[in-house]
Amino acid sequence: MTRRAPSRRQVLLGGVAIAAASSLVRPARAASTYALNPFEVAGGVWMIEGAQESLDAANGGAICNIVLLETDAGAVIVDTGSTARFGAALRAFADQRLGGVAAVFNTHHHPDHWLGNQAFTDRPIKALADSKAAAEANGADYATALYAILGNWMTGTAPHPPAQAVAPGPVVIGGRALRLIGEAGHTGADLAILDEETGTLVAGDLLFLDRAPSLPDADIAAWKRALERLADLNPAGVVPGHGPLDRTGAALAQTRAYLEGFDDRMKRAVTRGLSPMEAILAGPMPEFAAMGANPEEYHRSVVQRWTEYESEALPVVGGA
Ligand SMILES: [Zn+2]
Repeated sequence: MTRRAPSRRQVLLGGVAIAAASSLVRPARAASTYALNPFEVAGGVWMIEGAQESLDAANGGAICNIVLLETDAGAVIVDTGSTARFGAALRAFADQRLGGVAAVFNTHHHPDHWLGNQAFTDRPIKALADSKAAAEANGADYATALYAILGNWMTGTAPHPPAQAVAPGPVVIGGRALRLIGEAGHTGADLAILDEETGTLVAGDLLFLDRAPSLPDADIAAWKRALERLADLNPAGVVPGHGPLDRTGAALAQTRAYLEGFDDRMKRAVTRGLSPMEAILAGPMPEFAAMGANPEEYHRSVVQRWTEYESEALPVVGGA
């Protein structure tokens, strides 16, 4: 008997079924509502800080930092969170307190940063071209995965990838001057935005602080080069993709140290002939073990990056 591959609808329904089953096991949360706590970190720059942990029903997927920049035309919103419901809460804040929404930017294609786009489909939603393409290619699978993890928080969420591709460079929106910075390393296309008025750098996931970086699409060498260029901007303040506001340069230094530490750890592991399980069991680098989302982020990173370290270290069988 042959088994047909499940259709997209079946996959999605499967995700919903998993969510329903897990809600029987974990009935604790009553109403799934987001309590946003926006605070102004510089003149007209509002930040909503995400939880430091991994995506989980306990945090409703609200793990990434969101930034809203006030302009004469309404808010420029940078990233929209993991769910339609989070996006709606964000929209309500912008509408009630910041005069509406002028535009939305997505820093990169990871789903915790843009599945809230649904609340802004009547506004321009912008991203680097490669992020837009990656969101289009992966959106349905991301949504399926998040339904399985977040359950009821995801109710009604459907992927709405960014609709407009932007190029790096200066842009003025509602009288506010921004510099769009196109980098890569965390993913194939990472957008950072410098607010010229306050010197605030909205870094997306090029920077993490006190939360283990996630590396599913990482190119560590490219990422380190991007960090050099961000350092050259000498920003007055930094909003990392995950973690608290930083005015001291700690996010840059810590992200660089983490990438170097992980790179070194993996190179030594494959050179010594360890298995990925042995590398996982060794646990995160001690100086980073207490970070948010560790050890699970370290475990995931070993699985995600192992093959490339191994193939770099081992001689090609039958090679010339
Ligand atoms: Zn992220």
